[in-house]
Amino acid sequence: AGAVMWFRRDLRLADNPALLDALAAGDGHVLGLFVLDPALWDPAGSPRQNHLVASLRALSDSMGGKLVIRRGDPAQVVPELAEEIGAVSVHMAADYGPYGQRRDAAVEKVLGCPLVRTGSPYAVAPGRILTQQGSPYQVFTPYFRAWLEHGWRGAVGTPADVEWIGKRSDALPQTGVAAEGAGEKAAREHWQDYLDQIAAYDAERNRPDLDSTSRMSAPLKYGEIHPRTMLADLARLRSAGAEAYRRELAWREFCADLLLRNPEAAWKPLRAEFEKMEYDEPGEAFDAWCKGMTGYPIVDAGMRQLARSGFMHNRVRMVVASFLVKDLHIHWKHGARWFLRNLIDGDLASNSLNWQWVAGCGADVAPYFRVFNPTTQGLKFDPTGAYVRRWIPELADLSGKSAHEPWNHDTDYPDPIVDHAEARLESLRRYNAIK
Ligand code: FAD
Repeated sequence: AGAVMWFRRDLRLADNPALLDALAAGDGHVLGLFVLDPALWDPAGSPRQNHLVASLRALSDSMGGKLVIRRGDPAQVVPELAEEIGAVSVHMAADYGPYGQRRDAAVEKVLGCPLVRTGSPYAVAPGRILTQQGSPYQVFTPYFRAWLEHGWRGAVGTPADVEWIGKRSDALPQTGVAAEGAGEKAAREHWQDYLDQIAAYDAERNRPDLDSTSRMSAPLKYGEIHPRTMLADLARLRSAGAEAYRRELAWREFCADLLLRNPEAAWKPLRAEFEKMEYDEPGEAFDAWCKGMTGYPIVDAGMRQLARSGFMHNRVRMVVASFLVKDLHIHWKHGARWFLRNLIDGDLASNSLNWQWVAGCGADVAPYFRVFNPTTQGLKFDPTGAYVRRWIPELADLSGKSAHEPWNHDTDYPDPIVDHAEARLESLRRYNAIK
C-alpha cells in the first residue's frame, strides 16, 4: 500500500503539508504523481510549458527520479494509479481556480479512496478572509489588514526518509528551450539572494530600468516555493522594503480570493455596467500592440520584453494594459489572453483581476478618468531611458530621456499609431456613455 501525492501547482518537497499528510497516511510510502492534463497543457504557450517541464525534471531529480508522470484526463489517471498501488488515500493542496475545482470534484466522484486536500498555494486559503458581517472584501486595503490579522501557519520542513513508490512514467514533452533556474532549489536560492536587496524594494519597485523586483512570480505560480516560506523570512526583517513586499504577496492572494467568489471574472467584467462598454475589434492596432510596434517606447519595450523573455515588469504591465484598453479601445480579455500565452508566470487569477483593475471594471480600481499617458509614464519610471533602449534597438542612438520622444528625432522606429490626447478623449466619451 502507500498513499499518492498528486503534485499540481506545488512542485516542491519543502514546506508542503500535503506531502507530510501523504507520508503519514502511507506509512512512509508515497507515490508522487504529476498528471499532464491536455486541458491545461495545450493552451499554456511555450514559455509556461518550458518552465513546467524544467520544474518537473528538478522535482523528479529531488525524488531520485521517482516522479511518475502520466498524460491524460486526471479523472481517469488518478483513480487508475491509486488502484494500481492500492493507495489508502490521495493527497494534494487544494486548487481554487474554476477549472481546478471542477477537475478535483470529478476525480473525487470516481476515486475509490479518500481525496485529501491539505493547504493551498496561498498563505491564507481563498475564501477565508471575511468582514465582521461575514461577507467578502471588495477592496484591497481592508482585505490586507484582515489578512495580516488572520495570519498563517508556520513553514514546515522537507520530510526525510520518503520511500517513493516507482511506476511507469510517461516521458516529459521535449521543449524548445531549457528553462534556466526552474525548480525548488533554484527558487529558494534566488529568494535567499534577493533578501539581501529587499530593503530597496519599496523605493525601486516601480522602476523597470533598475530591474529590482524579485522575479518570484514564476516560482510562486508553480509552487517551487510557498508564500509561507517567504513570509517567515520577511517576518524576520524590519524594513519598508519587506513590508511593501508582503503587501504584494497579499495582492496575489486577493486576486485568488476574488476569482474564487467570481469565477466569471476570469473573462467578464466584475462591474456589470462594463458589459455595455463599446470596444473595437482587435485588428491591426492589436497586432501592433502584440509586436511592440505602437510607436510609444514604454509600451513597445514592455511588449518586446514579454515576447523575448516571457516576463514584463509590473509597472510596464499596467502601462501596456492601459494603452490597449484606453488608447486602442480594445477589450481587456484580448490582452489578457495574449499575456497568458506569453508570460512564464501567467496565472488566471492574477492576470484577469489585474487586467480588470487597469481597465476600470474590477473590484478595486483607479478612477476611470485617470488615463495613463504613456510618454509621461515612461519619463517618470524610466527616467534615463535605459529600459526602452534595452528592448528597442531602433532607439539605441537616442540618449537619456529623448528615447521616450523618438518623434522628435530621425530613427527607424514607427510613428505613434494613435494620438494619445485624442484617444483619451474617445475613451472618456465611451465611459460616459455607460456610466
Ligand atoms: P515583485 O514586485 O517582486 O512582487 C513579488 C510577488 O508579489 C510577485 O512575484 C507576485 O507573486 C506578487 N505580486 C506583485 N504584484 C502583484 C499584483 N499586482 N497582483 C498579484 N500579485 C502580485 N502576476 C502573475 O503572477 N501572473 C500574471 O499572470 C500576472 N498578470 C498581470 C497582468 C497585468 C495587466 C498586471 C498589471 C499585473 C499582472 N501580474 C501578474 C502582477 C505582477 O505584474 C507580477 O506578479 C510581477 O510583475 C511579477 O514580478 P516579480 O515577481 O518581480 O514581482
